[in-house]
Amino acid sequence: MAKIIMKTPLVEMDGDEMTRVIWGWIKEILLEPYVELKTEYYDLGLKHRDETNDRVTVESALATKKYGVAVKCATITPNADRVKEYNLKEMWKSPNGTIRAILDGTVFRAPILVKGIEPFVRPWKKPIVIARHAYGDIYKNTEMVVDGPGKAELVFTDAQGKETRQEIHEFEGPGILMGMHNTEASIESFAHACFNYALDQKMDLWFAAKDTISKKYDHRFKDIFQEIFDSTYRHKFDDAGITYFYTLIDDAVARVVRSEGGFIWACKNYDGDVMSDMVATAFGSLAMMTSVLVSPEGYYEYEAAHGTVQRHYYRHLKGEETSTNSVATLFAWTGALRKRGELDGCTDLMDFADKLEEATKTTIEEGVMTGDLVALSNLPNIKKVNTRDFLLEIKKRLDKLLA
Ligand code: NAP
Ligand code: MG
Repeated sequence: MAKIIMKTPLVEMDGDEMTRVIWGWIKEILLEPYVELKTEYYDLGLKHRDETNDRVTVESALATKKYGVAVKCATITPNADRVKEYNLKEMWKSPNGTIRAILDGTVFRAPILVKGIEPFVRPWKKPIVIARHAYGDIYKNTEMVVDGPGKAELVFTDAQGKETRQEIHEFEGPGILMGMHNTEASIESFAHACFNYALDQKMDLWFAAKDTISKKYDHRFKDIFQEIFDSTYRHKFDDAGITYFYTLIDDAVARVVRSEGGFIWACKNYDGDVMSDMVATAFGSLAMMTSVLVSPEGYYEYEAAHGTVQRHYYRHLKGEETSTNSVATLFAWTGALRKRGELDGCTDLMDFADKLEEATKTTIEEGVMTGDLVALSNLPNIKKVNTRDFLLEIKKRLDKLLA
């Protein structure tokens, strides 16, 4: 079979540890034999980030703006231990944080469903995608512990120096206090990202917050979503046959559990943090979760939702056998290749991505899986395989599908 030709390069962001090992094997076993892989390669492995004073991370994000689609391997976010382990010049920032700041995006996370690994919530048949706003609120807060009686006020000083004050609370004894914010620009870009992603996936969009209690803060989120929907997206949604609605977060929680899935649930930053862990766990496993960062300009960065699987890597280094799940990393590649194919009008590439995903799911559905899934599966005949053999098993099924 002739290899599939790509028109535009993908931005390839290599990473660390076990996922870096898997990265190489995915390319060798499942991509390069079939696709004339065209990538612009950025090594975001910690050693190279350190050598370039983290410039490589910035360059990879800028390249994403140039080409439109990136695929990223999990990377180490250094802490004190890593500074010692890698003899780092500095405790470099989280690459995901740096890339998000440059692309200004929203993170969408969706479970990968396979038969034999059943969600804990009975009615769920289709994926539930969490769209998490990644800026502000309690993640950029200012907090205070109050030792005794006194008055807390909210003060805003405008550019001309004029003050606006509002009492928060008259303390009669010790207590706690917090200030937080968000910006219209960031909420608007969050809304655009959600609407565009819903259109892209042809899925309904729900947005939930607590505007009955937070009549200004959460209400502003609700209004911005509605204004942008009415002015820009209502017709597009009608044409695509999908819907948008807002509901209170407590109502959403009840409806999500009773639903069969198949929609996008947009959440404010903290709600998204909590709800995405709930949804991921209820569906099965973090290694069966896709993650994509979508910018309002329509740049896409695909990754796995999990980390570098450090413990498995140390075992791998000692020459011990590992059984690490590569599905999320593989789906980062298929997501990116399909998007590249779509943007370039290359149906061969889109078709290949579909078949590779199908082969992966079939492998698990036929009972061949990595250790993490064995504990979750209700299939009768399970064969646990090591990290590399799992990819070779997928290849067998891919070859059949392509024949
Ligand atoms: P992790 O790599 O996600 O691993 C946590 C544990 O979850 C693993 O030890 C493993 O459990 C299980 N697990 C995760 N992915 C798996 C897979 N694909 N197959 C099988 N089991 C899997 O998170 P972490 O240990 O907290 O972080 C390790 C490094 O990753 C850190 O340096 C962190 O900075 C980085 N990180 C990067 C990203 C990213 O780039 N997006 C995200 C999170 C963390 P068992 O060991 O019990 O088998
Ligand atoms: Mg969390």
